[in-house]
Amino acid sequence: MMEVQITCTSCGSSIEVLPDHRATKVECDVCKHVQEVNFTADHEAGRLCECPVCNRMDFYKQKDFNRKIGVTLFLIAAILSIWTYGLSLVALYLVDLFLFRKLSVVAICYKCRTNFRKLQNMGDIREYDHEMNDRIVYSDHDFKGKPLSH
Ligand SMILES: [Zn+2]
Ligand SMILES: [Zn+2]
Repeated sequence: MMEVQITCTSCGSSIEVLPDHRATKVECDVCKHVQEVNFTADHEAGRLCECPVCNRMDFYKQKDFNRKIGVTLFLIAAILSIWTYGLSLVALYLVDLFLFRKLSVVAICYKCRTNFRKLQNMGDIREYDHEMNDRIVYSDHDFKGKPLSH
């Protein structure tokens, strides 16, 4: 099932929720701020079309890289490479290629920064576009899910 991570507009904490069309509000555990959400059957089926928080349709995807684990793995591989003649670094590269790149991709709403994991339609989500980001964040432009046209 799709996993949704909302950023609390009041204190910035992350609120983890699973899509449920009966749920109209989620509460922040930290500051008790109540955030309205609008989940649909699409969300429950793991398909992302509209943001359940801000109702926009503009998202980007990026590698969901866990920095802490990444740094630790790199240090271990670097130390081991002394005895393995660098083979451990090659192994790390392969682990990165197969594990992180394949499994961990996160879709993010340009407008409200809500994170979505385990999407069925991740292939429809485009890569991050700097210009789209600037226009959505600074001039509140709504692309309605369409790509930037020049
Ligand atoms: Zn909060
Ligand atoms: Zn949003």
